[in-house]
Amino acid sequence: MKKVLEVRNLSKNYGKKGYETAVLKDISMDIYEGDFIAIMGPSGAGKTTFLNMLSTLDKPSSGKILLEGQDITALSNKELSLVRRDKIGFIFQEYNLLDNMTVQDNIALPLSLNGAPQREIIRKVQTRAVDFGLESHLRKYPYQLSGGQKQRAASARALITKPRILFADEPTGNLDKKTGEDTLDLLQQCSEQFGQTLIVVTHDLEIARQADVIVHIEDGKIIL
Ligand code: ADP
Repeated sequence: MKKVLEVRNLSKNYGKKGYETAVLKDISMDIYEGDFIAIMGPSGAGKTTFLNMLSTLDKPSSGKILLEGQDITALSNKELSLVRRDKIGFIFQEYNLLDNMTVQDNIALPLSLNGAPQREIIRKVQTRAVDFGLESHLRKYPYQLSGGQKQRAASARALITKPRILFADEPTGNLDKKTGEDTLDLLQQCSEQFGQTLIVVTHDLEIARQADVIVHIEDGKIIL
């Protein structure tokens, strides 16, 4: 199987020189194409920090991360924005939908920003809306949706560009158990369809049980 991410001796410290705290400590691991990875561990262990490094949102203090062979820790901000645009999707616990845009426009946003033709945008949004059971909600605004519907809209938005890797930080954290599990099932089905890699920070054991790989982080290290 193809490696999509190779993490080598990754460390992250926070704080001023001399007063640094090591948050991630010499992490090395490989992530394979199409895998569903659940990152688990106690609060404060470094899970979000690890996800932020993998997803280009933050830079490590030392070590390398190869994304499809390209070292993303060595890229300029401009190069990183292209990697984010072309290869990565994000889903957050708070959904991060734009309140003054309809569900349709929210889902379309990554394509609109890329300047895709309108007809193509409408076709793709409709396909994704069906996948996520949102076809009758496209003209609504986020405040008119339930939490589960909001997270499904955020999932549809994250997948609309068919990213190679989808990152989600506690995507079910604000949802009840059943809604959270249903949302993640849909996400997983969609990413399986296109061989996308799904990397999720979660506290939910049921969700983790469905993962191909569970990565346990404790005190900044992977516990095997
Ligand atoms: P988790 O996601 O496992 O709960 P985090 O990755 O959010 O853990 O945080 C790990 C540790 O790093 C915590 O002790 C947290 O306080 C610290 N930390 C996270 N981000 C920052 C930051 N920007 N500046 C300083 N310390 C941080």
